[in-house]
Amino acid sequence: MLLGEPGGAELGSLACGQVWTCPVCAYAVRTVRGQEAAVLADAHLRSGGRAWAVTCELGEGPQALAARWQLLSAAWRRVVSGSGWAAESRRSNRAGLAWSPAVTWQDGTGWRPVLRVLLLDRPGREELHQEVVARWAAQWSTGAGSSTAQVYWRALADSSGVAEHVAAPCDGSAGRRGSAGALGPADILARARCEDRSSWWELWQEYARAATPAHRGHRAPVTFTRGLRSAVPSLGHRTDAELAAESARAGLPPLSGRAWQALARDGALQLRVLDAALRGPAHLAWSLADHGLPTVDQVRLAAA
Ligand SMILES: [Zn+2]
Repeated sequence: MLLGEPGGAELGSLACGQVWTCPVCAYAVRTVRGQEAAVLADAHLRSGGRAWAVTCELGEGPQALAARWQLLSAAWRRVVSGSGWAAESRRSNRAGLAWSPAVTWQDGTGWRPVLRVLLLDRPGREELHQEVVARWAAQWSTGAGSSTAQVYWRALADSSGVAEHVAAPCDGSAGRRGSAGALGPADILARARCEDRSSWWELWQEYARAATPAHRGHRAPVTFTRGLRSAVPSLGHRTDAELAAESARAGLPPLSGRAWQALARDGALQLRVLDAALRGPAHLAWSLADHGLPTVDQVRLAAA
């Protein structure tokens, strides 16, 4: 069972829709939203606009994820509200923003929530841009309550890195490989299932508890400012729950003989896989990869 987010999507069929705590649904939503941000950035750049990848870091502060995530939301609210924000919107020819909180964990440094922003504006006076940079830095570090909090700006020449920057999707594969480095929530869950060490479960529980609205402060994994998406009408109006439900309906490749043998031997494993199957084919595929139960295609690839 996954914790947090009671009442995911119910769209006629059984769907999970927990876009913060379910690795499958979170990956589906972040992947599509990242692609959408890239399409918007591409259209904007082609029409002579400017695009910025902005990364807002918290710096030193409390270690508990819930507290850090709250700080992240508070600091962001300071940047995008008040008279300074309104004046900046008028003066800087801003077309809009997309932003997303991303959480990783790393051995030694602990939790690192960052806010990743795509900002689209029009070329203007350099001093004006420097004023925007200075105001964001001041509001962000005040809101984060840390002088080590930082905002990094990077001008984008094209839209190639936008999807990864904005949405930072995490499918759990890094956790399954056991690779070092920064782990996303799905990686932590995959580690917990692979290694069954209580420390990984405790980390996962801390993430799931902190992923409630009261702590994370953000309604959606990726948010677009009003009107921005209308620049590219083909993006449509699919909700996060609808995106998750679409991924749940994705097809499942057939299982290998080895996978069936393992399932036949292990009743507890059967139950876990059945639970995933009830959430939809994409969830089942994730669970099978998690338990090392290969599909026919994967066996064929490994043999080749
Ligand atoms: Zn799900």
